[in-house]
Amino acid sequence: MNAHASVAEQLSAALTELEDQYLWDADSSYDAAVEIERQAQELGDDRLITRARLCQANMLMRNGDVAAAANQIWAIHRWAADHDDHVLQARTHLVWGNIHRHLGDAAKSLEHCVLAVELMDETATAYMHVWHRTKLADALGAAGSLDDARVRYAQAIHLGEELNLPSLLLGVLNNWAYTELAAGEQKLAQEVTDQLQQFATQHDLVLDPAALDTIGSIEIENGNYQEAEDLLLEAVRRHLIGNYEDADALAEYKLTLARAQRFLEAHNRAQASLDESRALCRERALGEVMVRVHQEQAELHAARGEYAEAFAVHKVFFAAHNRLHSSQREAQARTRQAMFETAEARQEAERFREQARRDPLTGLRNRRYLDEQLPEMIAGCPDLTVAIVDLDHFKRVNDQLSHDVGDQVLIQVAKLLETELAAVTTDGFAARMGGEEFLLTLPGMNVTRAAPQLDGIRAAVSSYDWSELTHGLPVTVSIGVADLTDASEPTQAALLSIADRNLYVAKHAGRDRVVAGTSLDGRHRSYRSGATAA
Ligand code: GH3
Ligand code: MG
Ligand code: MG
Repeated sequence: MNAHASVAEQLSAALTELEDQYLWDADSSYDAAVEIERQAQELGDDRLITRARLCQANMLMRNGDVAAAANQIWAIHRWAADHDDHVLQARTHLVWGNIHRHLGDAAKSLEHCVLAVELMDETATAYMHVWHRTKLADALGAAGSLDDARVRYAQAIHLGEELNLPSLLLGVLNNWAYTELAAGEQKLAQEVTDQLQQFATQHDLVLDPAALDTIGSIEIENGNYQEAEDLLLEAVRRHLIGNYEDADALAEYKLTLARAQRFLEAHNRAQASLDESRALCRERALGEVMVRVHQEQAELHAARGEYAEAFAVHKVFFAAHNRLHSSQREAQARTRQAMFETAEARQEAERFREQARRDPLTGLRNRRYLDEQLPEMIAGCPDLTVAIVDLDHFKRVNDQLSHDVGDQVLIQVAKLLETELAAVTTDGFAARMGGEEFLLTLPGMNVTRAAPQLDGIRAAVSSYDWSELTHGLPVTVSIGVADLTDASEPTQAALLSIADRNLYVAKHAGRDRVVAGTSLDGRHRSYRSGATAA
């Protein structure tokens, strides 16, 4: 490997580490990504440069600079789309989805999260498989599609277990619990949180601030306000020393803290926490959390007996809530549509792909399929026999009966070839090469083993009761065979040309027979029940 390639590989590995971290320090990750971009610039490697920029945008957002992140995301997305880089597109859409979530646009967030999952291909990392599904589940939950969300959480947990990512699983369980709680499903939230705590104990994992916030919120629902306040104070403390949370995290913790304090009737503490949360929402343009800050403020006024103030703030809350809510309903509709369309489009593409590789008359594989598969088979199996099957005197069928009957005969021959071949090998396939010529592949078999089987197939055609179709006109086939030891080189052309030559020999020897071996030195063998030529 040259020096350039090895530096590129190191940078790529360092980026993957930044991209796939579940807990992070936004400032140092940002600096690391800036340094990687500088080195990538020196290499002139656009892909690495773009990946490093996405990491920077992500960290800007995490650090609360949602606007700066939003500014950069377009150019990154453009590059990834222009270069058909699916994994980078998937990562970009995930960051984009987060940006919209912070801005309070559940509709757009959901659309991006759908794409963040849809665009992953086989090069996506284990982390992505688990976390992108989790974020899609979050977005579905936020848009009110709770059942769809649960399916994705369950998938993410299953994958996380399979891929052995315990700390990431903690994140999945936390987000799930949070979603249930936000949807008013308190009992389910409690169940998921219990699972989360058990899991953390089992794996000796420290609960991160987000998990403490979720557990604290459940304690509030359970009436354990002092426990809730303690948990939230601890969440804020861990957040501040760790600096590894999302843009809205601190605003969220302070809001939960304010609620716990209101229930404790510690109104001044509650107001202070709420003011801090509101300031963070303003600074970071956190639309969705801000709506809940208004709501909490109204509750706090009411708890203090300030009913006029409570009513005024409640109106503000209600207007903001309605704006958010109608955009969420739209989100549901649009996303259902988007998911449906992508699934449909994929099935459609699959169907088209499949159709394009089948012969419409007989339903067998066609020449295109053959040209795609045969080189792989040749490269992949040392023992491979192919056979060209050609109908004998087929012109007569067309001439004496009709072209339509000719078609019926081709369809029936194709059926016989397919079923008879399936009885001989499960790995091979039958294809229509064109006209009244077919090809059979028999992987894992050399000519010595394959030829008698092929003669059985030949006999199955001639002994089939054709009377109803052809009224006495016989239908037989000649078969030319070749295996890889016959061929001068292991290529499709070499293999087919020997099979073709053997077919020619079979026709001249009287048809309705199988000819195998190489005709170059005259050592070909003719197989036919009762009459075997040397
Ligand atoms: P041989 O034993 O030497 O192969 O004789 P043959 O009559 O089969 O030979 P040839 O290859 O000259 O003729 C093949 C005929 O198959 C010519 C063509 O009209 C007919 N044919 C090719 N494709 C189709 C098809 O899709 N449907 C029908 N009905 N006939 C076809
Ligand atoms: Mg022919
Ligand atoms: Mg023919």
